[in-house]
Amino acid sequence: MTAQRIDGKAFAARLRERVGELAAQFEGQAGRKAGLAVVLVGEDPASQVYVRSKGKQTVEAGMASFEHRLPADTPGEDLLALVNQLNNDPAVDGILVQLPLPDHLDEQAIISAISPDKDVDGFHVINAGRLSVGQSGFVPCTPLGCMMLLADRLGDLSGLEAVVIGRSNIVGKPMAQLLLDANATVTIAHSRTKDLPGVVRRADIVVAAVGRPEMVKAEWLKPGATVIDVGINRLPPAEGAEKGRLVGDVAFDEASNVASAITPVPGGVGPMTIAVLLRNTLVAAYRNAGLAVPEGL
Ligand code: NAD
Repeated sequence: MTAQRIDGKAFAARLRERVGELAAQFEGQAGRKAGLAVVLVGEDPASQVYVRSKGKQTVEAGMASFEHRLPADTPGEDLLALVNQLNNDPAVDGILVQLPLPDHLDEQAIISAISPDKDVDGFHVINAGRLSVGQSGFVPCTPLGCMMLLADRLGDLSGLEAVVIGRSNIVGKPMAQLLLDANATVTIAHSRTKDLPGVVRRADIVVAAVGRPEMVKAEWLKPGATVIDVGINRLPPAEGAEKGRLVGDVAFDEASNVASAITPVPGGVGPMTIAVLLRNTLVAAYRNAGLAVPEGL
């Protein structure tokens, strides 16, 4: 079997286009642009790249981008004051504080200070709670992007066996909740799981969110499984090369001989995350403006 490549890059481009059309419609209705504020504390190189592309894609989608860059030694109270100011700014619909924060800052305290109605990352406990009881709120962007790819590929997930590897608050747990809401039979595997290959072999759907390069092998997979690879890992550079190759948590080439469909790394889940962030921001804008969220957003 040669697995179909699930093209997250193309899917994300279509989603951004749809968000762009609806962002223009929102501007016409509300008399202002939808707005996303991104806060970056410190100079983590990967975070700087993410923040730059979030800002660029926000503007390309016809929304307003507000960037706040603060020094690494910013005191907690200054960051809380900024979050509070953004909570009260009617031009700001979504607030994203780029993680990880420097060690002296309490991530949970900062996230808790964001208004749940502007928490477009879906990390606030109120939104985590809403997801777990089935109320509408904001769902973290990466797992929601994975669900969109799965629904597009498989349609109805009812009764399918799904195994999520990884139990982080950002990916694994909300992913499992979304699969459960879609009536899959869900197992969450993690670092203490016994016989991980045996657990994964049961799955019609495998979502790998671990952060270990090419950990999931072809022989772990049930033939015909659909594989969503969330991991982004950079291998050490080959001799003479400046940068190592990016790989996922799944051994892509060998897994492609067993799975029926699989997301590549890069070009699979990665591009979905920002596209869903833009989508969540526009949903927030409609709600904050007291307007009905359009169908299909
Ligand atoms: P995390 O470190 O918070 O969680 C990793 C999880 O993997 C933990 O729950 C742990 O129990 C589990 N784990 C660790 N070792 C294991 C093992 N040997 N066997 C089974 N489970 C094991 O990571 P995270 O934030 O959830 O991210 C996971 C991966 O996804 C990382 O590679 C990250 O870079 C990537 N990621 C990608 C995107 C994207 O946009 N595509 C977004 C977020 C995270």
